[in-house]
Amino acid sequence: MKRWQDILTRRDFLNVSISSGLTILLANCSGLLRRPTSQSDNEFLKNYGPIDRTLSDSSTQFFYGDNNARPHGVLWNLPKYMEGKKQEGPTENANIVIIGGGMSGLFTAYQFKKFNPILIEQAPRLGGNAKGQSWNGIDYSIGAAYLDSPHEGQPMYQYFKELDLRDVLVERIDPDPVESNGKLYYKFWKGEAEPEAIDKYKKMSNFFTKLNKEEERAFPFIPSLDPDDLASVKYYDQWHLHGLLSKIAGGKLPPKLETALEHYCWSTYACSSQELSASAGLNFLAQEVAPILIGAGGNAKVGEKILEALVKEVPTTNFRCNSLAMHVDVKTDHVIVTYEDAKKKLRRIKTKTAVICCPKFVAKKIIPGLEEDRLAAINKLRYRSYMTANLLIKKKMERRSYDIFLTGKGKTNMGNVQAAQEKINATDFVMANFAQIDASANVLTFYRAFPFDGARSELYRPDSFSHYKKKFEEQIARDIIPLMGFEQKDIVDLRLALWGHALPLAEKGIYRSNTIPTLRKPFRNRLFFIEQDNWAYPSTQTGATDVALMRNDILKFLT
Ligand SMILES: Cc1cc2nc3c(=O)[nH]c(=O)nc-3n(C[C@H](O)[C@H](O)[C@H](O)COP(=O)(O)OP(=O)(O)OC[C@H]3O[C@@H](n4cnc5c(N)ncnc54)[C@H](O)[C@@H]3O)c2cc1C
Repeated sequence: MKRWQDILTRRDFLNVSISSGLTILLANCSGLLRRPTSQSDNEFLKNYGPIDRTLSDSSTQFFYGDNNARPHGVLWNLPKYMEGKKQEGPTENANIVIIGGGMSGLFTAYQFKKFNPILIEQAPRLGGNAKGQSWNGIDYSIGAAYLDSPHEGQPMYQYFKELDLRDVLVERIDPDPVESNGKLYYKFWKGEAEPEAIDKYKKMSNFFTKLNKEEERAFPFIPSLDPDDLASVKYYDQWHLHGLLSKIAGGKLPPKLETALEHYCWSTYACSSQELSASAGLNFLAQEVAPILIGAGGNAKVGEKILEALVKEVPTTNFRCNSLAMHVDVKTDHVIVTYEDAKKKLRRIKTKTAVICCPKFVAKKIIPGLEEDRLAAINKLRYRSYMTANLLIKKKMERRSYDIFLTGKGKTNMGNVQAAQEKINATDFVMANFAQIDASANVLTFYRAFPFDGARSELYRPDSFSHYKKKFEEQIARDIIPLMGFEQKDIVDLRLALWGHALPLAEKGIYRSNTIPTLRKPFRNRLFFIEQDNWAYPSTQTGATDVALMRNDILKFLT
């Protein structure tokens, strides 16, 4: 077991390297000073920022979320599509081009803001999976919801300080309740809903206490290059989460606990506990007992803060939404990035370096000449789909908790995850009034992952929206209204968001194989990869940490 102080000392190097890097950058660019946000910056944030505050109250009959029509139409048919396009040489020079404006792309742009980065994003707004909307003055998330509280020494901690993120995030300290048979249990994880199996709960609780104990912290930390962290990640990766926890409990998991854990895995990783690497599962679960941080609008609030800081130093014209990267050609001493702009015109940028912050299944389409081993690693990655539903309620509600997990009758069909998931629909919902205490109304965000392969063919059927909307409506009428004490007449709207390739699968065995180093290594030295799928780990921290880990290598091309 390693001592917490040792880890801090080792992790501190990251902290130091971010700060010292900034010192170097500031020294190089002493002429650039931060300026207050101008009216045109505000206009830019309104039109392209991660939180859409322009929607009217009227009901919608289509999915928000990602829209794969253009990328599929173009990238899956690239040679033919390019044939009809007028092609010219580069018309622009850059230091660094970032492809993909999700949280990873935004953190990367922020890290290299002194070098006037250009960011190419195919969607109409920045934020990727971490987007939000607004109704009646309440911001709510349509994707990524919350952050773990970072420890001093972690890269995220440094971003928190620089961006004053604590000012816009609310801490959830006490564990949230779990619903079982229509009743809320505030001490569910202590065996309150299953007193007959209390011994097994105690064994689990002891295990997590030991994992988290400051002096002997050894839980698998992802992402990290610290040799001790890597060793613990590889160690726990020999089990899937269900297998490891059954071993700890000393046999079969009690049904309510098994159901809650399974639903947690669906919601957090879009996979079954019988697929999920125990390393990934423990990393999240062990941190869950620590405070989590919630912004109005979910993690889109963090994206918005990064963008606010960025536009004070980088021209807004450098952030190019509705722009699809199509070709990234890595030469010996530069990179040529070709993209189609918002007006469908081909543009070329000659840049010193570039960072791929879009998913790898896109990367392999746009980068010619990728090595065999990298292609094999990319092809190993599996992505799962996700749906959220936002219920707009015109009633002030008591601010009780943030996230409520639903376990229903407390028995899940582990042999047929698809059928089990279909039966329950959403597995949890979060409340917007947790981070917006004074709100005179409320928005509940429901999370329904698709924790199995092959869901996309169903999700893109023409009747998909009405089919899934009905599912949410039924669940709300049956389970949520009685649980939360509002009435059907209080409901103003139900808005759905669909994310097609939202989460890379953190499956058992992936961390013991060579997949992760192969995915993360630079291509021809000059092209870098920073995205959640670098570590097959769907968390905002993934990209934020990888930027810090790769910062010095990227800087070599910039200074
Ligand atoms: C419903 C849901 C809930 C989640 N909840 C949480 C949570 O509570 N906490 C948490 O930490 N994480 C959560 N996540 C995981 C979340 O995905 C990550 O936290 C993080 O937002 C991923 O950021 P990313 O930038 O790595 O990837 P993405 O968000 O996928 O960003 C990739 C970007 O690349 C763009 N792109 C793709 N192809 C191209 C191209 N050819 N040219 C230009 N741009 C391109 C995409 O449009 C996208 O904007 C959740 C995810 C979902 C879907």
